[in-house]
Amino acid sequence: MDTNVTNIIVEKVKNSRINQVDFSDLPFGKVHTDHMFVCDYKNGAWETPKIVPYQGITLDPAAKIFHYGQSVFEGMKAYKDEAGDIFLFRPEENQKRLNISSKRISIPELPKEIFMEGLKTLLQIEKDWIPTSVGSSLYIRPFIFASGTGLHASPANEYKFVIVCAPSGPYFSGKLKVLIEEKYSRAANGGVGYAKAGGNYAGQFYPTQLAIEQGYQQVVWTDDNTHEYIEEAGAMNIFVRINDTLLTSPVSDRILDGVTRKSVIDIAKAEGIAIEIRKIRVEEVVNASKNGSLKEMFGAGTAAVISPISGFGHRGEHYELPELEDNFADRIKKRITDIQYNKAEDPFGWRYQVV
Ligand SMILES: *Cc1c(COP(=O)(O)O)cnc(C)c1O
Repeated sequence: MDTNVTNIIVEKVKNSRINQVDFSDLPFGKVHTDHMFVCDYKNGAWETPKIVPYQGITLDPAAKIFHYGQSVFEGMKAYKDEAGDIFLFRPEENQKRLNISSKRISIPELPKEIFMEGLKTLLQIEKDWIPTSVGSSLYIRPFIFASGTGLHASPANEYKFVIVCAPSGPYFSGKLKVLIEEKYSRAANGGVGYAKAGGNYAGQFYPTQLAIEQGYQQVVWTDDNTHEYIEEAGAMNIFVRINDTLLTSPVSDRILDGVTRKSVIDIAKAEGIAIEIRKIRVEEVVNASKNGSLKEMFGAGTAAVISPISGFGHRGEHYELPELEDNFADRIKKRITDIQYNKAEDPFGWRYQVV
């Protein structure tokens, strides 16, 4: 596994598309930068990586990604400060997690250097694409999929690792109304819920669509066994504030180990906020809402950092959350984004300067 990545082959575009892009109106993940990073796995090894103009990928109809869904991904962001310096946020966590996800669905391990050097080199080439307006960043999508062919249900022998980037404005606008789900499950014990596998998302779309038809935006997943405990909010980790204590579920086979979740926990501790990492009963949240001790709920994930929840549905009832002037969500979000955008000290060592 000692692929020499110092020699990434770079083929640049002749004409950049950057002048055609309206940076004041960036829909999430729709506009792509000029280039992409590609590294192929063949004959048991990762080959020399390349950075090439953003382009389509041609695959054989028997490529295993189409039939058996071997694909994993990551979601990250690059930020630019006022001086024009570029930063990532805890990128090694994403690098490690990509391999954890890959292992679960029999994708070969990707050497750390290919991920990190590929990412840094691509960002240096695309640095003009990193937006600077408030809440904007360059969304980065590293992913691996089975390009090897064969209709036999077994792992592929060829894979592609690709990184694409999309300049993006703020992710969600407004608070989320969520529906506590008691029929469908996102993940099960012994399953792939902890992996960032593409198929996990496919399975979420239908129940989420049903929730949308009832006037909600997201589903709150409960445990597959009893549906008595809340686990995640859509594709975000979930936090609940009862009185002045912040609660979040422990990670497990079924709950993704989010980088934002980990950061929220550490910030809360640093802020002197009481935090408990334990299972959270649906009943506890419903009762807290009824007796007025439920103060806040929010999702945590890279795209939006913190997504405040305005209310939740449960068994045909709707529960509204109070509007708090001085809330944990805003306080924690500001601390995290100030670190991301190099506006504050970073006592945790999370900020990672690219150039
Ligand atoms: C990606 C993801 C998260 C959030 O992880 P971050 O590392 O914070 O972006 C949470 N839950 C699920 C299911 C996810 O796929």
